[in-house]
Amino acid sequence: MEVSERLLRERRARLAAERLLEQKSRELFAANEKLAIHARALSDQIVEQRQMVRSALTEAEALKTQNHRFVADLDRAHTAAVMAERRLWESINTIRDGFAVFDSAKRLVSANLAWLASFEGYAIAPGVPYEQMVRIIATSGRLDLGDEAPDAFVARMLARLDADPVEPVTLKFRNGTWVKLQDRRARDGDLVCLALDITDQMRIWAAIDALPDAFVLFDREERLLACNQRYREMFPDSAVAMQPGTTFEDLLRHGLKNGHVPEAVGREEDWLTDRLQRFRAAEGAAENVLAGGRVILESDHVTPDGGRVGLRSDITALREQQAQLEAARNAAEAANRAKTAFLANMSHEIRTPMNGVVGMAELLCDTALTEEQRLFAETIRSSGEALLVIINDILDYSKIEAERLTLRPEPFDLERTIHEVTMLLQPRAREKGIDLMIDFDMFLPTRFVGDPGRLRQVLTNLIGNAVKFTETGHVLTRVVGVETEDDSQTLHVTVEDTGIGIAPEYLDHIFGEFNQVEDERNRKFEGTGLGLAITRRLIERMGGAVWVDSEPGQGSSFGFRVTLPVAEDAGPVQVPVSVRRVLAVDDQFINRTILERQLTPCGIEVTLCRSGAEVLERLAIDPDYDVILTDHAMPEMDGDVLLQHIRAAGHGLPVILLSSNPSHLAAGVAQDFAAILQKPVLRSDLYRHLQGLTAPAAPALPMLLLKPVELRQLRVLAAEDNRTNQLVFQKMVRAMDLDLVFADNGRIAVEMFESYRPDIVFMDISMPEMDGKEAARAIRALEGEGAHVPIIALTAHAMEGDAEAILAAGIDQYLTKPLRKSAIESALIEHCPPGVRTPVPPAEDAA
Ligand code: ADP
Repeated sequence: MEVSERLLRERRARLAAERLLEQKSRELFAANEKLAIHARALSDQIVEQRQMVRSALTEAEALKTQNHRFVADLDRAHTAAVMAERRLWESINTIRDGFAVFDSAKRLVSANLAWLASFEGYAIAPGVPYEQMVRIIATSGRLDLGDEAPDAFVARMLARLDADPVEPVTLKFRNGTWVKLQDRRARDGDLVCLALDITDQMRIWAAIDALPDAFVLFDREERLLACNQRYREMFPDSAVAMQPGTTFEDLLRHGLKNGHVPEAVGREEDWLTDRLQRFRAAEGAAENVLAGGRVILESDHVTPDGGRVGLRSDITALREQQAQLEAARNAAEAANRAKTAFLANMSHEIRTPMNGVVGMAELLCDTALTEEQRLFAETIRSSGEALLVIINDILDYSKIEAERLTLRPEPFDLERTIHEVTMLLQPRAREKGIDLMIDFDMFLPTRFVGDPGRLRQVLTNLIGNAVKFTETGHVLTRVVGVETEDDSQTLHVTVEDTGIGIAPEYLDHIFGEFNQVEDERNRKFEGTGLGLAITRRLIERMGGAVWVDSEPGQGSSFGFRVTLPVAEDAGPVQVPVSVRRVLAVDDQFINRTILERQLTPCGIEVTLCRSGAEVLERLAIDPDYDVILTDHAMPEMDGDVLLQHIRAAGHGLPVILLSSNPSHLAAGVAQDFAAILQKPVLRSDLYRHLQGLTAPAAPALPMLLLKPVELRQLRVLAAEDNRTNQLVFQKMVRAMDLDLVFADNGRIAVEMFESYRPDIVFMDISMPEMDGKEAARAIRALEGEGAHVPIIALTAHAMEGDAEAILAAGIDQYLTKPLRKSAIESALIEHCPPGVRTPVPPAEDAA
């Protein structure tokens, strides 16, 4: 036992211990298992918690960052706010207007520098009461209180704060500045005060107020915005209504109610409509006559914002002045008219006896006189004529000076006008042996629209001077033209002479009034020195220019340029178609050239000769010419002698004589010429005669050469009140074949017109009882549709407008006094009707 037992026991004990161990192991394993699960759960928990902690930490970090940012933002916002406030105040401090804020207890919260500047020297800090500040201003002496006491001012300023809204108030400071206080109440009860500097505005208003004219401003709704003091004064009745906001219409109605505008009384509504319309149209100015006779010039203008600004000027004094001026002008004009009438009458009065003197002297010269008597008679005649020229020049010049000269354009024949003027000067030229020539450009029309009377005057002056200042040689009038775009021609007319000429230093001078060349040679000639001054003014009035070119001792060339419309009735000149070959003779080169230029363009072959001998030579070689044109006075052989030689040589072709002095023709010779034409020959006359040579029906010979047969005598009635003039007229026509009766005035002339049945009437214009124009009208009325009897007026130098009135009275032509025998003769021949003997002077042709 012992040992086994002990071994058994030990074994059993070991078995038990092994079982226990096993159990304990199982238990441990289970416990371990649990522990492991737990541990895993724990570990999961830990992981989770750790994550939570981590995210909490992240969040906390984010929050922290955010917090930092907020703090920074806040900081910045604060700084910005501070800066903004500072800027705001700095800005508020820079403005010239004062600015201040008071709390509801009217204590200063804050103010800008401009505001505080008014309180310099006073301790002003936040909390100072409004009243104290007003009092400081009132007593500082800076404010211009006018008559108001400082206390009253303070009280007024405080009282205005009780109103809502607070009424603005304007303060004037002694340093000249103006301030307008504009206060507003804020929502929290604060008082915000603005002190606006309106000095500039007030200056402008002061200026507007100082205007002598009334000024008024309306807004676009036509409500009054402002007006100056003058406006109130100008319309005192409406002054009470001139409150800002009143409409223009109400203002007008106010005035109308008071009878302010006499013109509107009884038609107020119409007037009002018109006036409002004018106000709205806002253009131009109109006059308005107020009660009391004051005249107001009213104008309204649109302002940029659509309102109206009105200006009203009292022009009563101006109108009165104008009326006085008008009256003065009328008086001056009446005086001027009286002066002109006096001048015209005087010159008429002087001319009438002068005409007698000149006419009688001319007749006297025609009688048998001793040398000495002739000299006296000639002197009387030439002095008389010179005197008449002077009177006419002075009259003309005074008219031009008084700017009363008006041009009267009408269609006229320029070539004919030049021809007529030249013909009038022919006697004087003939006396001196000067040739007068006209070279009118072949291709130029002859009819233009211009003032023929005035052009005639210019031509008479230039050609007249040329004749006057030329002793030997010729005077040539040349006309050329350049066509302009509008169917006008710029005409260049030159008058060339071979006279004494003008020294260069006088060339400008002579166009001045009363200016003449002062040298010995020159001053033996008479004249007023007005002719060229008148010429220049006339041509300048026609829009042209005058010039001169001259060489002393050689001659002068005066020219003028005018642009004239070509007359619509300017038909082509009738050219001689039937003449082929012409033989022309003239000792003067210019005359030959002119003839050639006139004929060649018509298709005529012209052979030019210098002398009669040359003509005879030519004819001997070649007799086949249609016509010969010969000059009259030539050095070796005169035209009439040439004709005799031609006939003696057996040539029967027609010969036309071109003569400056046909009356010097030997008796019996005249009939042998196919025609005798007065030089310078008018182109159309020459053509007419050439044409007539081959057309038997046409009158080939000039009337002068027709011998009257079995026709009755021409009956002439001359109305002339002045006995001397009657005598002159009678003597001038005494050699003519006519029956002449006189009427002493217009009325008698009309009576005699019926009883005597004249063929031609000569009519003086100014006559007592019935003047010439009236008589002419009466005669035309008597004639009715019957035959037209030519009436020729006898006038003194035609006054401006006279010519027109004369022709308007039914007069056909007028002759100016002093009467010239040749002019009367031409008129008689020209107007001699068919069936009546042409009144040729029988004896003189053969003289
Ligand atoms: P008037 O001939 O009456 O003296 P004008 O005014 O016509 O006055 O002429 C002024 C002056 O000009 C003349 O006096 C003369 O000295 C000069 N004169 C004018 N035309 C000519 C001319 N063709 N030749 C020379 N001198 C002339």
